[in-house]
Amino acid sequence: MTLPLVIDAPRRGLPPRHLADLPLPDRRRAVVDLGEKPFRATQLSHHYFGRLTTDPDEMTDIPAENRRRLADALFPTLFTEVRTLSCDDGATRKTLLRAHDGSLVETVLMRYPDRSTVCISSQAGCGMACPFCATGQAGLTRNLSTAEIVDQVRRAAAAVRAGELAGGPSRLSNVVFMGMGEPLANLTRVIDAVHRICDPAPAGLGISQRSVTVSTVGVVPAIHKLADAGLQVRLAVSLHTPDDDLRDTLVPVNQRWKVAEVLEAARGYAEATGRRVSIEYALIREVNDHSWRADLLAELLRRHLGAHLAHVNLIPLNPTPGSAWDASPKRVQDEFVAHIRAGGISCTVRDTRGQEIAAACGQLAADS
Ligand code: SAH
Repeated sequence: MTLPLVIDAPRRGLPPRHLADLPLPDRRRAVVDLGEKPFRATQLSHHYFGRLTTDPDEMTDIPAENRRRLADALFPTLFTEVRTLSCDDGATRKTLLRAHDGSLVETVLMRYPDRSTVCISSQAGCGMACPFCATGQAGLTRNLSTAEIVDQVRRAAAAVRAGELAGGPSRLSNVVFMGMGEPLANLTRVIDAVHRICDPAPAGLGISQRSVTVSTVGVVPAIHKLADAGLQVRLAVSLHTPDDDLRDTLVPVNQRWKVAEVLEAARGYAEATGRRVSIEYALIREVNDHSWRADLLAELLRRHLGAHLAHVNLIPLNPTPGSAWDASPKRVQDEFVAHIRAGGISCTVRDTRGQEIAAACGQLAADS
């Protein structure tokens, strides 16, 4: 099958090569090419993935003159911080980053009593055009490089470790690909990034694959490829409605891959990994919040995935500026949850963080 153009396009605008683009053996080759001994690659990796720094002044185990040259070659500046906003008493923090070519990228860091989660972007902008999503309105600027994806996590891990969020120093435990972009439209780099995020130091940041979630609109061929990648990450599918008529407008990529095909691909992923798939459902008042849709959703999930391999995650809509759409009233939301559960499918409502800092996908970049 020929893959559609959305997968892994476009390449333009990527930053220069960075240490975090490379697996450890390639880092050794890269330092040898710079006239250094291979063990320098391990030292640099400890600084980046273990100590979470890119500052050559802190790399005191490397002679000063070599340090500068290595840093220039392997730590090009990926991002400058444009703006940081906090809310939820300092437990949520949203950062707007500017890439080397001016592209804007958002990350959101959330501290909970039992974990810390960073929500990262896989693309600058997004080409999927979902009408309720701020990023979808702005269109796709470009794919992010592997290192640009990994560096968002490194920055978050450093901030959590330094105690920059309420609650004191902690460890970054979870990563969700739910920021800007469609991760499965940048699949090769996302898979590489998962290795960098999850491999133990000094190869990577050492976060458990089971604590990483990749969220997709339902790019079916790429779901199959991800299932073949031998990873243990959780897959989230942004379904938002069980019927093709409405999904064709809410998630326009549905015109290419229908609900049944998406759920079959999700089943393939669940069977390959043994992991339950998370079905994302942004509840929009009088658009997709009807009880019959909850019943139909539960029925389709039982049929395609089996009750034990599906979980529904309801997201109260975070309205984007200028949109007529709104979240459903609490009563309607409760009713929707009850119908899903009555249909034998587990269902939870996502805790809404960061609403007053416009933390819904793409809103900060849209304001700038
Ligand atoms: N492109 C991927 C990942 C990014 S969005 C995907 O669509 O899955 C992460 C989740 O946030 C998706 O389920 C998306 O539909 C949802 N989302 C986007 N805008 C939203 C909004 N304004 N309110 C609630 N959820 C939103």
